Amino acid sequence: MSDVVAPGEHATRYWRALPDGRVQCEVCPRRCRLRDGQRGPCFVRRRRGDAVVLTTYGRSSGFCVDPIEKKPLNHFLPGTSVLSFGTAGCNLACKFCQNWNISTSRETDTLADAASPEEIAATAKRLGCRSVAFTYNDPVVFLEYAVETAAACRARGIKAVAVTAGSICPEPRAELFAAVDAANIDLKAFSDDFYHRICAGRLAPVLETLEAVRHETSCWLEVTNLLIPGLNDSDEELDALTRWVVAHLGEDVPLHFSAFHPDHLLRDRPPTPAATLRRARRIALANGVRHAYVGNVRDPEGETTFCHACAEPLIVRDGYAIEAWRLDASGRCPGCGSACAGVFEERPGDWGPRLLPVRMAR
Ligand code: SF4
Repeated sequence: MSDVVAPGEHATRYWRALPDGRVQCEVCPRRCRLRDGQRGPCFVRRRRGDAVVLTTYGRSSGFCVDPIEKKPLNHFLPGTSVLSFGTAGCNLACKFCQNWNISTSRETDTLADAASPEEIAATAKRLGCRSVAFTYNDPVVFLEYAVETAAACRARGIKAVAVTAGSICPEPRAELFAAVDAANIDLKAFSDDFYHRICAGRLAPVLETLEAVRHETSCWLEVTNLLIPGLNDSDEELDALTRWVVAHLGEDVPLHFSAFHPDHLLRDRPPTPAATLRRARRIALANGVRHAYVGNVRDPEGETTFCHACAEPLIVRDGYAIEAWRLDASGRCPGCGSACAGVFEERPGDWGPRLLPVRMAR
């Protein structure tokens, strides 16, 4: 595993030397070719000598205990609390980023909170959290910190969750998703042009990640699609996206349609109307997605988990709070006995909708 190579820097292993003297980072599909001292556009991985180092290992933009539903994950230990954190930087550059102050941060020296993987796992245990989430910015860019934190969590019986855009190369992808127990992966659009123009990324690597996580790992997968008026919310695109999800990931992968709020470089667009989210959900259900949700708006039907076989409401939510729980002890519908896909226990957690900021004590 990695060793600390300089104060505040951590060795990494997904890179290779090129014949022209540059070093190529192979964590994400951007495959940056770096000269000595140069950073990638993610800002947090830089070349030092003949290697690439991570400059944010052990340092966070902040910790908060959240409901697991906020990730969003509706079928993974519902009602439980998750210790959430992020660092700085991102390997995409989404013009609509809702966490742009973190993802575009160049202030890695002033990251507020410092914590080792062991300290994070111990804090999660002490606070009664069932899991730790890598979120706020993409764990792809702090891969080594995330993987080693996930290992420390597993050693204490705590689960690990990745919230990511899934733009990652195959080898680091295998390492990241073997280390975590659940993931919510953003599928930002179903158009390579959107990824290219709006996110500085590509669609194909994200689709590859979704298929790899679903079929080659035991990580529980949910998918989020944030809808931006006029950019990725047409009937045609939603039809193609949801058909792809069913054909390539299966009907059991939950799909969350999330509302855009004007932010960062897309302040001239209106917020997503609730009707658009409901339309997307209807298209998904018609195409065979068993569990389609709406997020960022209040919508009792769009927040409820229904039995896919008999339409019995199984988990009724109000925002992040669970109002009613009807799954039986084995995660089945009490009406027809059909299993609901997910990671469920006999009872839901009782964390509720609370958000609790946490400062790490050193
Ligand atoms: S992780 Fe950063 S440095 Fe590495 S390829 Fe991606 S953007 Fe470039």
